[in-house]
Order: sequence, then structure tokens, then C-alpha cells
Amino acid sequence: MTASKKKILMLALCLNLGVCLQSVHCKNLESTSMKEEREAMVRIFIQRGIQSDVVLNAFRKVPREWFVPEESQKFAYNDHPISIGHGQTISQPFIVAYMTQTLGESVYGKILEIGFGSGYQTAILSQLSKEIYSIEYVPELYKYGKKNLSRMNATNIHLKLGDGRKGWVENAPFDAILVAAAPESIPLELIQQLREGGRMVIPVGGKFNQILYTYTKKNGKLQELDRVDVRFVPLVGN
Ligand code: SAH
Repeated sequence: MTASKKKILMLALCLNLGVCLQSVHCKNLESTSMKEEREAMVRIFIQRGIQSDVVLNAFRKVPREWFVPEESQKFAYNDHPISIGHGQTISQPFIVAYMTQTLGESVYGKILEIGFGSGYQTAILSQLSKEIYSIEYVPELYKYGKKNLSRMNATNIHLKLGDGRKGWVENAPFDAILVAAAPESIPLELIQQLREGGRMVIPVGGKFNQILYTYTKKNGKLQELDRVDVRFVPLVGN
């Protein structure tokens, strides 16, 4: 090999190595920055009134970027909803934190979730709850959320494709029920499947005007504990 050919070969090797080192470096940088963004998201939760350390720690553990489409991963920690297709969105992180905290002590028990979509709220609950039963209505989102959730390697998540308005009677009563889409009125089955003293968080209202209620069940009836204005997708069904 001539000296000039050797030089070219060395240069090519160096460049190649440079590219490799750079990409390894970039990968590390990327995951570090996602962690920092996650921590910044948690700081915003604290400023906005999420006080429970166990709830905050669940958000520190679950990578939200696993639950958004690849092209939106750079926005994973922005505090807004992101489209997941089929006219649906992954809920705004603060709303997920609020809904989790408002369940109080009942979050540690057996939970029914309606509308798991991306699976992010389910993943958060799986860190806190004994068992989480979750139902999704849209078949494509059922598959999407199920695939996302498989990365959690959790043994307490049970998923079903179907109409969540009917609840999941075989596993009732539930300590808590969390509904992620808004009906015009609360389905009776859900009230029946909530255990006495348990909590329900549910958005109720029309397309443009909804309130997110937190209830507890006393003597078979829902008793309001809290309410905030929100905007959710409608709870659908035939
Ligand atoms: N917590 C989810 C929210 C997804 S949006 C997330 O952050 O990804 C609300 C979800 O409710 C959608 O996936 C929608 O398909 C689902 N949904 C609407 N009506 C439903 C019903 N009757 N039963 C079960 N899921 C329903």
C-alpha cells in the first residue's frame, strides 16, 4: 500500500470512529435530557399543587416518550395533549397527575380505568395500584396502548377491548374508577361497580363544556369532593 493510500485509509477509519463516538455520545445525551425534562415536568406539578411524593415518584419513573408517536417524542414532556391518532390524544401530563392525586388513598387498591389510549395513565397507576383493570374502545388504540405498556413489564395491568361505559363487572367492586373521556351523564354501571367509600374521577358534560368531578360513594350514592373545568374527548359507544 502506498503512503497516500495509507493516509486515506487512516482518515476514513478516524472519521468512521468519530461518527460512532459521536452517535454513542448523542444517545447518552438524549436520554439524560429526557430525564431532565421529566424532572422539570415534575417540578411544574409541584408548583401547581401536586404534593403527594408517591404520585410524584411514579411520574419520575415512567418515560412518557414511550407513550407518544415517534415523531412527537421531542414534545413528550411539554404540558399539553399530543395526538395519538384516531381523533384521540394522550392527556396533558398535569391532568394525569391531578387525576391520580385526587383518587387519594383509593389509588393503592384495585382500579378501573376507562379509555387507556396511549397507556400512559395506566403505566402511572401501575406504579401505585394493586391491580389496574383498563378498557379501551378503539381497536387500533387498544393495540397501540397494549404495545406501549408491554415495555413496563408490569404484572398488575389487565387490558380489555370494549365499551367502558359498562364497566368490568367480573372484577367489581373497584376501590377507584378513573374515566378519561367525557359522558353527558355518569353511566349507572360505573356507580354500581365502585365500592362504598371508593373514589371516582370523571369528566362530565357536552363537547365544549365539561367539568372533571371527584366523587366518593356514600350509602350507594356519589358525593362530590372536588371539581375543575376541563376539556376531554367524548366517551363514545352505541
Ligand atoms: N389516558 C389516555 C387518554 C386517552 S383519550 C391517554 O393519556 O392516552 C380517551 C380515550 O378514551 C381514547 O383512547 C378513546 O378511544 C377512549 N374511549 C372513548 N370512549 C370509550 C368507551 N366507551 N370505552 C372505552 N374507551 C373509550
